[in-house]
Amino acid sequence: MKLIKQLKKTIWPDSIVLIIFVMIAITAIIVKQIVIHDESKSDAYNDLSHISSEVVIHFQKVKLDSWKDYVAIIHVCDPTANRLVQQLDNGINFNNLDWSGLNSEEFKQVKYYHHLLDQYLFFTPGEYQFPLQEPSHYTDTYGADREGGQRKHEGTDIFNQKGTLIFSVCNGTLERIGWNRLGGERVGVRGQDGNYYYYAHLDTVNEALVVGNSISKGELIGTMGNTGDAITTPDHLHFGIELPNGKWINPYSWLKVWEYNSR
Ligand SMILES: [Zn+2]
Repeated sequence: MKLIKQLKKTIWPDSIVLIIFVMIAITAIIVKQIVIHDESKSDAYNDLSHISSEVVIHFQKVKLDSWKDYVAIIHVCDPTANRLVQQLDNGINFNNLDWSGLNSEEFKQVKYYHHLLDQYLFFTPGEYQFPLQEPSHYTDTYGADREGGQRKHEGTDIFNQKGTLIFSVCNGTLERIGWNRLGGERVGVRGQDGNYYYYAHLDTVNEALVVGNSISKGELIGTMGNTGDAITTPDHLHFGIELPNGKWINPYSWLKVWEYNSR
């Protein structure tokens, strides 16, 4: 018995056991942090996608210097935002507003959305551009049933004529080019923001594009078509945005704002 104890002690000295324990604990903390960070980022994009594009466009039109202040307040407080909006109209800085009348949860939410609009640049004029140059038809069909409800629509369909030129919405790196079953001829770009931008059902792909090369905002992706599972539908671009954690988010509001700012 004593011998076994002695043996155990030589094989696993206390210090080594302690080091291993600490290393496992640190690894667990790091992994947890990464998961939480990814989750909160995905929540942030999801929350942003619910902001009304009409409200954003209106205030970018009339209050370009302080549109974020107005949008955050109206998104959270509508229709009781008047008193705060009046203060902004009178030139009072967002940080010096008199917030009385707002409950603490509303106040927290306004600050949260203001922070999101600062941190995530999807709504910021000039950061991204609309993928087409012509006026085009599209509605918010994200989440609609596809294949009899077997899967959900994970993007926005933008309709125009076959051959309409399609351009990259952002700077990034070409990650996938060519055929897949649903998307037909498609191009996938890893944006500098880490998100994956998906252009599907193309009629032709710009022959100059090579996987691994960089692509600039406004560079030609290809032309509109109805390849892949769009073969029985009118020509359109299926445009999708996938977050690094694999979640597809609704690009509709951003497309509306990009379209307005690309005019
Ligand atoms: Zn689609």
